[in-house]
Amino acid sequence: MQRYAVIGNPVGHSRSPFIHRHFAAQTGIALEYERIQAAEDSFADTVRGFFAQGGRGLNVTVPFKEAAWRLAENHLSARARLAGAVNTLWMEDGQLHGCNTDGVGLVGDIRRLGVELRQRRVLLLGAGGAARGVLAPLLEAGCARLHVANRNPLRATELCTHMARELPRHAATLSAGALGALDARDGQWDAVINATSSSLGAAGLALPDGLYAPGALAYDMMYGALPTAFLQQARGQGAALLADGLGMLVGQAAASFAIWHGAEPGVDATLAALRQELHRAAASA
Ligand code: NDP
Repeated sequence: MQRYAVIGNPVGHSRSPFIHRHFAAQTGIALEYERIQAAEDSFADTVRGFFAQGGRGLNVTVPFKEAAWRLAENHLSARARLAGAVNTLWMEDGQLHGCNTDGVGLVGDIRRLGVELRQRRVLLLGAGGAARGVLAPLLEAGCARLHVANRNPLRATELCTHMARELPRHAATLSAGALGALDARDGQWDAVINATSSSLGAAGLALPDGLYAPGALAYDMMYGALPTAFLQQARGQGAALLADGLGMLVGQAAASFAIWHGAEPGVDATLAALRQELHRAAASA
């Protein structure tokens, strides 16, 4: 049986096994998909051991995406190279390869929601690993403007400087600043994407009123059985369409699955099943 896994620390919460088993049932591919918790100092050995024992592919989650990038440094996809982080590993001709599918997952989910990014003004909140992974795919989707706002503004500036250097044709589209300096006078945004981990707390972010243009999308990369703190706040501040990151999660998994198996699974049925599973788990907790 082909073996796959998600590796992280912690990893017990990961929905990847559910998603990949659902894809496997959909496409008729026989596979095993497990969770592997690696200690911080043994990530590289754990990865090597997995592939040495015949493992076929790994998804990588917090806190190892940058370490995975370094491990696969000689065989990175363009997306992974730009992101500086890897969430998908596999062996090809005896060499470890890496890709980052987070951005494809996000952009695909926004399209699935019926929202056009071309020529739109997008506000990205956060400058951590998740923001790094989605920045280039958002630019490639044709945004008219993309502003990155972070609690620590230096991180936002560094990220945008790096991306402008790598993708000079998009440099004029990009800007960076402090989360605390956001002002409705900067203009209204067609999409506000939360890539901070602030929704882990109940309070959400201190965002000013007036950020959302008519018809705007509020998207939180975090997800749960209930609307996140960011989405509750966005509803109160006039966002027209609210979405959490469950569709992004399934979308990035579908892109990993396609890399490993050469077969593109449908996202909708798996997303519906996962949403149901989240509600079931919350009700029985
Ligand atoms: P990181 O730890 O790399 O970055 C965290 C980011 O959140 C930083 O920008 C940090 O700002 C900011 N932040 C944290 N707490 C606060 C706060 N209280 N107020 C304002 N800003 C805050 O995490 P990731 O980038 O890996 O993940 C971010 C989120 O995205 C998580 O919720 C994660 O679950 C989600 N995610 C979802 C995915 C999906 O498929 N749906 C995929 C990947 C991530 P600062 O730099 O100032 O510290």
